[in-house]
Amino acid sequence: MTSSEKINCLAAGSGFDSLGSQTDGPAVDSHKVGALGAGTKYDVCASTASKRQVEGVERVGSVSRGGLCHSYTPDGRCVSLFKTLYTNACGHECNYCQNASTCGKPGKKYSYAPEELAEITMQLYKGNYIEGLFLSSGTGGDENETMEKIIETGEILRNKYSFQGYMHLKILPGASKEHIRQAMELADRVSINLEAPSKNYLSEMSPTKDYIKDIILRQRYIKELSKKTSSPSGQTTQLVVGAAGETDEEIFQKIIYEYNEIGLKRAYYSVFTPLEGTGFSDREKQPLWREHRLYQMDWLYRVYDLRKKEIELAFDEQGFLPDTDPKTAIARQTLDSAVDPNVAEYEELIRVPGIGPISAERIIMARRQGKLTKDRELQTLGVRINRAKPFLELNGWRDTNLSRWLT
Ligand code: SF4
Repeated sequence: MTSSEKINCLAAGSGFDSLGSQTDGPAVDSHKVGALGAGTKYDVCASTASKRQVEGVERVGSVSRGGLCHSYTPDGRCVSLFKTLYTNACGHECNYCQNASTCGKPGKKYSYAPEELAEITMQLYKGNYIEGLFLSSGTGGDENETMEKIIETGEILRNKYSFQGYMHLKILPGASKEHIRQAMELADRVSINLEAPSKNYLSEMSPTKDYIKDIILRQRYIKELSKKTSSPSGQTTQLVVGAAGETDEEIFQKIIYEYNEIGLKRAYYSVFTPLEGTGFSDREKQPLWREHRLYQMDWLYRVYDLRKKEIELAFDEQGFLPDTDPKTAIARQTLDSAVDPNVAEYEELIRVPGIGPISAERIIMARRQGKLTKDRELQTLGVRINRAKPFLELNGWRDTNLSRWLT
């Protein structure tokens, strides 16, 4: 039985109807699990593995119908998660979302009940289908009423079922401080979606949300609580890329600010796709590579520890990223001579395209045993030699393309 079939089967026997009310009958609308799972399609919880499109009913591995996805825990483990909305009803008017109250093509509304969702999660956990829960939601009737249900689900899991698995809870915009505190006590990770890099962009995208009050002040409160309490949960956020004409540079600047000032653990990027019936249905679909290039920039900042000023060299004059590897674009502008892996410092090595933090450390270790003289030696240390070669001088030899690139 596939995970989707298993989830459907569990929901069908749960004794709750499509809106989460208890029922004596055979109950459940079999579309409920699919609809609430698919509702999280644009809620990203990992920069990989969540965008695969699998065509055809004979294939396995589709994550787009919702249900199962993969994410990384704070200690770096990859875990499989039951990823779902609590409800797809929402009072907000986001112009990019089909759950918006203003959507001209609204789908049927569904909701879980806390006991129902906790029970399904436990059954999946016990069956080894999942290791955790990623729970997002529309606001339902009211953000605080729905936050209470989300928290109740978490409490049933943690207290009634002694569930110790990973739990990521979405904080709804405008949620009360008390609800944020309770969610943080239960969750390994919480997140509130920023959606846009500024107040002006958000008011165009989501006219009913207040950027400062509903989102930024909530993020600041999460940061304060993380410092004051022993709560393990850090916060992440997500942006919709390109819905309102915002540039990559504006997005990047905002995220750097969030890493430094809000204590953000990770940012996720979801490229804008126009959806039928929404206010932005006629806007241009953004290319998936835009999202990928932003993840690369994010990685250069967080993992490679490149300076902000240096990373910004990858933007064009309009503030957009071209569809080329940003690290290579930066290296072409900053490496003023070929790098010799036998003498270069760690900071120089990681600036070479094709060399990452791990391979840079391995190079430093390996050269203590003897001079590196061949491409193959670098390859065995993890260097992607085709990308690195034009920037290296190895054993007195350098790629003839280099001088062209460096002019
Ligand atoms: S808050 Fe906006 S993006 Fe989130 S579910 Fe509601 S309408 Fe959709």
